[in-house]
Amino acid sequence: MFSKNDKIFQVVVESAPNSIIMVDPTGKIVFMNKHTEKLFGYSKKVLIGKNISILLPERYGNTHHEMIKKFFKNPQTRTMGAGRDLQGIKKNGEEFPVEIGLNPLKTEEGTFVLASIIDITERKKLELRERHYIKALETKNKELEQFAYIASHDLREPLQSIYSFIQLIDSDYSDLLDEVGKESIRYINDSINRMKNLIQGLLEYSRLGREAQLEELDLNDLVQEVLDDLNFSIHGSNAKITVNHLPTIKGYPVEIRLLFQNLISNAIKFRKKDVVPRIKVSSKKSKNYWRFEVSDNGIGIPSDYYEKIFTIFQRLHRREEYEGTGIGLAHCRKIIDLHHGEIWVESKPGQGSNFYFSIPFEKDKA
Ligand code: ADP
Repeated sequence: MFSKNDKIFQVVVESAPNSIIMVDPTGKIVFMNKHTEKLFGYSKKVLIGKNISILLPERYGNTHHEMIKKFFKNPQTRTMGAGRDLQGIKKNGEEFPVEIGLNPLKTEEGTFVLASIIDITERKKLELRERHYIKALETKNKELEQFAYIASHDLREPLQSIYSFIQLIDSDYSDLLDEVGKESIRYINDSINRMKNLIQGLLEYSRLGREAQLEELDLNDLVQEVLDDLNFSIHGSNAKITVNHLPTIKGYPVEIRLLFQNLISNAIKFRKKDVVPRIKVSSKKSKNYWRFEVSDNGIGIPSDYYEKIFTIFQRLHRREEYEGTGIGLAHCRKIIDLHHGEIWVESKPGQGSNFYFSIPFEKDKA
């Protein structure tokens, strides 16, 4: 039991940094602290004895009355209007967003409501700014994808023409060409092939996730299929690959397959010369997600590049050293974004790299 005249109670409530108001079962304000004067612009003298509805915009009138009635039927601590945007109204008519906590307070004269009112204008502004930011980012990403799709799609045609004419020159006029001419044709052909690969990569990048359907994926089977596909390079490099037991997850099949394929083939490709490549694929269950790991004992990556390697066309080596277009890890990041997870790398140059990615459980996906 609490006496409403209790001195300690009054001191605590007076010095609180939010507005605290006590109303009787009819909604009449019987007590308020200093901060209430500051927040709403009314003096105590004016507010005491008035109905609480004076502090709420008219459109809440009935709803608010109903809420008070409901509260007294089942008085327990709770937030008022949870999930809805509540507004307070100041003496000067200005409305502002509020959060109201309601607590029943048993006094010698019956059950009163102790309402704690917080001005959440700043919080709302921040939320709004965040929402605008995310929206702008989503629009930009869509535009970029669209651009990548159109650019790569349209670039294929002129490239195909160049390729056809070079083939024509090579077959019909090769007698007229000296060594320099023939060498030039070889260079042009190499460049065309590289450009084809880049365009293909870009096209695949912008297509990832389009029209994809989530499916239950037993990753043990999926990774085994990836290893079968990589059979040639596994044998060629004598790589020893260990795969621990993996879970079944909900994911996009083509994309998840590409993810493992890129990570494992990179682990084979970036091996150290004269060292047997040892690669391990494993998983760990966390509270809300699976964390996967693909580790190798290869050449490693300097820490300055941990982030950069996930951007499109970013590579650390010349083509003559290691084949590739620099798009594989950008694919991986996009695939993990599609699954609402994260991907990152830890590495010791000269000793090996550990690629990690997380995939939230189905119920945690947005
Ligand atoms: P690509 O393999 O075609 O070069 P990726 O996007 O797959 O493109 O990788 C980007 C760069 O990241 C690679 O060029 C390489 O420098 C580095 N990298 C990726 N995986 C590994 C790895 N397992 N070990 C060392 N370096 C790696």
